[in-house]
Parts: sequence; structure tokens; C-alpha cells
Amino acid sequence: MDKYEKVTELARRRGFLWPAFELYGGAAGFYDYGPLGGPLKRRIEDTWRKFFVIEEGFAEIEAPTIGVEGVFQASGHLSGFSDPLTSCGECKEIYRADHLIKHIVEVPDALSNEEIFNIIKDNEIYCPECGGNLSNVYEFNLMFKTMIGPGNKMPGYLRPETAQGMFINFPRLLRYFRDTLPFAAVQIGKSFRNEISPRQGVIRLREFTQAEAEIFINPANKTHPKSSEVKEIRVKFYSQAAQERGEPEDMTFGEAVDCGIIAHQVLAYYVARTYQFLLAVGISPNLMRFRQHKSDEMAHYAADCWDAEVFLDRLGWIEIVGIADRTDFDLKAHMALSKINLKVFVPFNKPVKRQKLMVKPDMKALGPMFKGKAKAIADALKALNPEDLRGDRIKINIDGEIVELDPSLVSYGIVEEEVRGEEIIPHVIEPSFGIDRIIYAAMDHAYYEDTVEGETRVVLRFKPAVAPIEVAILPLMDREDLVAPAEKISDELRSLGLRIDYDTSGSIGRRYRRNDEVGTPYCVTVDYETLEAGTITIRDRDSMKQVRARTDELAKKLKALFEGSIQFQEAGVPINANEQ
Ligand code: AMP
Repeated sequence: MDKYEKVTELARRRGFLWPAFELYGGAAGFYDYGPLGGPLKRRIEDTWRKFFVIEEGFAEIEAPTIGVEGVFQASGHLSGFSDPLTSCGECKEIYRADHLIKHIVEVPDALSNEEIFNIIKDNEIYCPECGGNLSNVYEFNLMFKTMIGPGNKMPGYLRPETAQGMFINFPRLLRYFRDTLPFAAVQIGKSFRNEISPRQGVIRLREFTQAEAEIFINPANKTHPKSSEVKEIRVKFYSQAAQERGEPEDMTFGEAVDCGIIAHQVLAYYVARTYQFLLAVGISPNLMRFRQHKSDEMAHYAADCWDAEVFLDRLGWIEIVGIADRTDFDLKAHMALSKINLKVFVPFNKPVKRQKLMVKPDMKALGPMFKGKAKAIADALKALNPEDLRGDRIKINIDGEIVELDPSLVSYGIVEEEVRGEEIIPHVIEPSFGIDRIIYAAMDHAYYEDTVEGETRVVLRFKPAVAPIEVAILPLMDREDLVAPAEKISDELRSLGLRIDYDTSGSIGRRYRRNDEVGTPYCVTVDYETLEAGTITIRDRDSMKQVRARTDELAKKLKALFEGSIQFQEAGVPINANEQ
């Protein structure tokens, strides 16, 4: 078994990840999170919240998972969120046409369906299953479509990303943030993509969880006030140029901004925060790199885009987060389709005086001509721009009535006005995290084997902050005199909010192994000294060392261990493991 098989087998056997609908034969691209996978996922999401909602002050919202047509028309998903397919004329198997020519064309995304089909024909590519002829290449939209309410009047789509929830709430969010840029809103929730051939477990799902942040900034200011806090962090940057050379380069974020590898400081700051978050959930820094999109891979509207990639056994380098500067593309598109102004008024530091050419109606002539209507006509004329008045006749609309005037009835004058600011369309920086992929990567990178007394010990070296079980309480034997105090300790620790597993079955060694395998950082054993001397043992998962501590100090010691304010040896008096 390679590591991929070992991790997926462990995930299945111990209740992290289960293929969904097994009772009815299953369906590719859907997974259940079991009793240990559920808490692992929740804790990774909570760590994300700590970084982005609490520490960065982003606003968390929750929008419906079904969206109406306009949303995806504006976002481009209706017309462009599709993959090219071809099917076999004989066995009817369906394939991603671009995948079939990957060995011939490195970036098939740039090709039209006709061009892909020609490459298939010219290179004599046939059905990989049965060797039959392949059909013309056609587009398949990846959105799941449904109907909202009875009848066929209102189509709805399961959202393919959470981002649109933030875009279409932009006016309300702007008001919430007191009309001031920059601000950001986030969402953690399900996204749906009808992937053509989902494989590789939770790496490619049809229903998956995203955590996305939309950070709205003024494009005139691409600096970040906290950039000095991350500028010394060193990571592997796989820039466009580095990809040409085939070798990522080690650099600090400060250097990457200074030499122009990352487009600007704001983007760099959030790539750096992504790095810190990934470390916090247990992604190994040695198996992580930041890859810049190549110019033919980057969306046409994006100014720059970086993927956090992790190295996974068997799967190779996999994107787990995308961080993009999406410019004003999304807000502009929603503004054009909804006809709602999504611009932001940005005040100048000091009001500026500007000279403006204004239309001056000739009141002496208009008064007698239009009597009661003259003022309304004069106001309508003043609202026009001088360039609107070129032509033989001026046409204005007064309460639905079109009034035609001779251009001689207006003259132009220069007026000076005070301008307090300007309206801009914000730009958007979007870090988009795939939570399921991060979970799998955290398991793969935590997987560790050593040999203890001639036997293989399997350990998930989870960070304590994400471990689904934080402490296992183990009575040395399943006897009433030990079980009662052990249950009491469990209840006390549970009431403090710790995730406890209470286990009495099997030998103590076996129970330690079971907990190592699911990544429980500490095991607490209740033995006869607990009854006689009021002490318990605490065992550390990674070193397997044990200390003896006072039962009444256990909660305090565990809290300090989880906070990292003490080392394990400081939690009690070291004991020889053989004493057990
Ligand atoms: P994208 O919007 O395609 O850039 O996706 C953003 C993130 O969502 C990616 O970095 C992945 O981690 C995750 N993701 C995208 N598609 C899937 C999928 N089919 N299954 C699981 N995760 C996905």
C-alpha cells in the first residue's frame, strides 16, 4: 500500500471520510464526513474563521446555496462555466475532450471545440475504453440546474462558488461598513459542480465546501497596513518565470513584492496569510508552494493569480487555495446587468476646486415662450452636458413630454465647483479555499509511521487545534473503582469544552495506538495511583512520553499544553513508560 491508500483506508475505517450513498451503490463525487471527519472539518473551518473573521475583521455572511439566473448570467457561469466533452459512438462513454489531448497540447483551454476535435482526428485518438470513434466536441455546463417553485418559470442553479453571495450583497455590505473601503466579507459553505469524472476522493467532488473572502479595495491604494508583519516570511514562489525554469525560488514576501513577482502588497499580504493559515492546520511547509497562473491560464480580467499547491502522495501537486486579484470584473458585470449603481464614493483628503463648462439657459427668452413651464425647462437644460447640445435642435423630456428648442436659447459659461471626492468601482482580492482538499492534505501531511516494539505504529500528527479528539480518558482497567473517577474526569473536561473520547475497551497499549491513529494529542490514564495519590498520567502522542500530574491540576495543565504555554515535560513528573 502506498501512502495514498493508507490514508484513504484509515479515513474510511476510522470514520473520517465515507463514500456517500453506499447503501444504494454510491455516486462518484459525494462524500460523507464521519464522526471524526465532521469535527476535523469544523475545527479547520473554525481556524479559518479565527484567521479571517476574527483577526482580519472580515464579515461572515450566509447566502442561499441556490441562485437565480441573473446572478450566474452576470458572473459568466451560464455561458462560460463548462468543459468540452466528447463521447464514444460505440460504448457511449463520455470523456473530457481536452484531457484526451493533454499529451499533445499543454494548455488546451485556449482551443475552440472544433480545434480540439481536429487534434483528436489528426492524431487518431479513439475511445480509451473500446477503441471506438469519438464524437464532435461539445460544451457541458457544470452547474446543477433546478426549477424554483412549480412549473418552469424560474430556473435556479446550485451555486458553483460562494463568492457571488458577497458580490450581490455589495450595496448592503458597503452600508454595513459605513461606506468606507477597504472592507471584506466571507462565506464558508457548500458549492456544487457537476464534475464530469470525479475521482481522487475529496480532491474533486460534486458537492464541496469553500471558504471564500471578497476583499473590496480602492484600486488607487494597493498597499496593506499590516504588510510589514508578513514581509519576512519565506516561502517557495513558483512564479511564471520560475515555471519556465522548472524550479520554484525561495524568497520572502517583501522580496517578492519588491521585485514585482507578486502584483502588489495587498495580494502578497493575503497570500502570506494563506500560508500562515495552512501551517496552522498542519500543512507541511516543505510540501507547499505558491504557483502563479501562467498568462494563458489566468482569467482575462485577473491582474494576478496565485494557487497554494500541496504535494500529495500519488496525486502530485494539487491546488488547494486560489488567491486572485479579480479587478473590478464582478462588480462591473453585476452593475451592467442589474442596472444598480455599485460604485463607491471615495472622498478626497481635501476638496478640490474644478472649473466646469455649464449650460446657461436664456431665461429672458424662455420665460415668455414657456411661462409656467419655463423653470422646469431651464432646470432640464442645466442638467445637460454641453456636448449633448450639439445638433440642430435640443430635445428635452419634461414629465414625459418631448420639448424641442432652438440651440440659440442656451449659452455656455465656466463655473467653479468644489469636488469632495469621486465615484469608483472597487477592485476585489479573492482568496478561495477548498476546505475538503485542505482536510485531505492535512491528513496526508500528518500521516506518520514509526516502529514500536517491532510493530508499526501509525500516527496522525494533527495540530492540536484541529484534532477531532483532544484528550482520551482511559481507565487502566474496566473496573468500577477506576471507571467512576475516569467518568468524573471526562465530565469535568467536557464541561470545559474539550473534545473527549472515553474508552475502556482493550489493553491500554491498544487504546494508545487507536488514539495515535486518529491523532489524539494526549491520553490521560486513570490508575490505582489516581485512587491512592490523586494523580493521573498524561501521555504525549508524538513522543509517547508520559508524565504524572495531580488530578486536580489536569484541566489547567491541558489548557496550558493546548495554548503552547508549557512544554510537555513541564506538565508533570516524568515517568518511565514501562511503569504502566
Ligand atoms: P476555483 O473556484 O475553481 O478556483 O476553486 C477554488 C478552490 O475550491 C480550489 O482551490 C479547490 O481547493 C476547491 N475546489 C474547486 N473545485 C473543487 C471540486 N470539484 N472538489 C473539491 N474542491 C474543489
